[in-house]
Amino acid sequence: MDSVEHVPAALALRQRPGVPGVRSTFGTSTELLNVLRLMFSRLGSHRCPNGHRQAPTIDVALNLNLTCPECRVEFYPPGAESMAFNSDGACPRCTGTGLVREVDEATLVPDPSRSISDGAVAPWSMFGLTVMPQVVAEFDVRTDVPYAELTDRERKIVMHGPAEKRHISVPSKNGKLFELNFTYRNARQAVQEALNNATSERGLSRVNKFLSVQVCPACHGTRLSEEVRSTLVDGINLAEATAKTLDEILVWAPGVVPTLPASRRSARTLPRSWAVSSTAGNRS
Ligand SMILES: [Zn+2]
Ligand SMILES: [Zn+2]
Repeated sequence: MDSVEHVPAALALRQRPGVPGVRSTFGTSTELLNVLRLMFSRLGSHRCPNGHRQAPTIDVALNLNLTCPECRVEFYPPGAESMAFNSDGACPRCTGTGLVREVDEATLVPDPSRSISDGAVAPWSMFGLTVMPQVVAEFDVRTDVPYAELTDRERKIVMHGPAEKRHISVPSKNGKLFELNFTYRNARQAVQEALNNATSERGLSRVNKFLSVQVCPACHGTRLSEEVRSTLVDGINLAEATAKTLDEILVWAPGVVPTLPASRRSARTLPRSWAVSSTAGNRS
């Protein structure tokens, strides 16, 4: 068929998989979030790429480009689907989980009374980077004194030193020396690369001891990209709307109507039914 019109949002969006994933929430599984996303897409005040705020307009529901009255730039306002944190609307830093796993520096040298040659830098010995003590010595870092006695400069190289090539001699089994070039991997990088390469649960759990889980600094745990959070309805963004309790959101939603331009209100159907935006543009 060519088009489906006036289908309630609940029906149009019913085709999602029923199995909850890592990003499932009360809002995603009950469709309440779908309605909120539609509201923000269709009724929201969007921001142009140059940061100018736009008045809510029917053009969004008609899938039309918006032209910023201030800077004349043309842009596509976000559709309801692209405001989802499990698709295009996801914060790029945490891919929509709201959490990031960061290397926890305190875990990299669990026993600072040991020297680097004696295995002080745990990820090097753990992830097979056994020549790194020799390589780091080429950066003038002492490897035969307790890590605790290293200077700030030396520790900085251990933790953050550049991935540069160094020439070292490695003895073979029969005592013969091999001259080899190795690219330096600082302690943080060693963990990061082990994380990127981990393919099994077991591999991941080995890396996990060097990581700490933190609230994503980019989206502050809201899971949404900055662009999605720039659209405002009644002065708040989607993240702030979803932070409300169910009771609060039910009080807030009908209050949105008076904040809209007259052309965007419908006296007949609001606020009892929330099927405000299930008209044009629902192409799914
Ligand atoms: Zn503009
Ligand atoms: Zn994030």
